[in-house]
Amino acid sequence: MSRSVRAVSPAPLVTDGDGVAIHRAFPSHAISELDPFLLLDHLGPVTLRPGEARGFPDHPHRGFETVTYMLEGEFQHRDSFGHAGTIGAGDVQWMTAGSGLVHSETPGDSLVKNGGRLQGFQLWVNLPKRDKMKAPHYQELPAARIPVAYSDSGAVEVRVIAGEAFGVKGAVETHIPIQYLHFKLQPGARVTHAIPRSLNALLYVISGGIEINGRSVPQFHLISLGNEADTVDFAAASDASRSGGELLLLAAEPINEPVARYGPFVMNTRQELEQAFDDYRAGRMGTIAVS
Ligand code: FE
Repeated sequence: MSRSVRAVSPAPLVTDGDGVAIHRAFPSHAISELDPFLLLDHLGPVTLRPGEARGFPDHPHRGFETVTYMLEGEFQHRDSFGHAGTIGAGDVQWMTAGSGLVHSETPGDSLVKNGGRLQGFQLWVNLPKRDKMKAPHYQELPAARIPVAYSDSGAVEVRVIAGEAFGVKGAVETHIPIQYLHFKLQPGARVTHAIPRSLNALLYVISGGIEINGRSVPQFHLISLGNEADTVDFAAASDASRSGGELLLLAAEPINEPVARYGPFVMNTRQELEQAFDDYRAGRMGTIAVS
């Protein structure tokens, strides 16, 4: 028995930051959150002309984690504690904002100057109350450190960012059990993947299409899964015009705590949110030095 499809919803095109084109899988009017996941953005996919690339200028975060996974193009980041770096195709940055920081996320210099392809993901993962005020922390994984697993036939490829697939374990350490898997299915390929039923789970179709429980789901769609089974079955869409299916599979143990959320802060109570705004305005999350 496979997990059921609870809902399928489109990821509409929105702009955020300085004018970054994004397919936002959630929050949406259909789905506000999938505990502990708070947001999933699919940046692009887009081909930018010279001077067209935009980013996310200085902004704070507190109380959760942001996970950036690039497929094409480069993004630079810097924060109020002096941390800076660049992530490119296949790289992952798992940032635990914890007690708070101010950071900027901007397209790489070459992307700004010359234009080019941009595609990536940003996922927000909530933190349990006990971890919300921990010191900010980064895990940076270059593409070479992200294990790739294959099915026996070779028709399914998975990049294992967190969790496990085909016996291969991911490299990220998480506060709660999390699976973050990037599947590529050749036409006709099928997958049965284990997800303990205590974990909430979703699929997001990046390109092509997939079939699940007799239903065909095209790209830019989110599938939230039921919790009634310990596996999920899906396949590349059988539609001959499609070139297989590419998707993210995300699963995690729900935190089951109250969520008080406003903009870049995610806490448990309204009072803690107000404190976050006060701390940010008073400069207690720092500022980014001008270089
Ligand atoms: Fe951010």
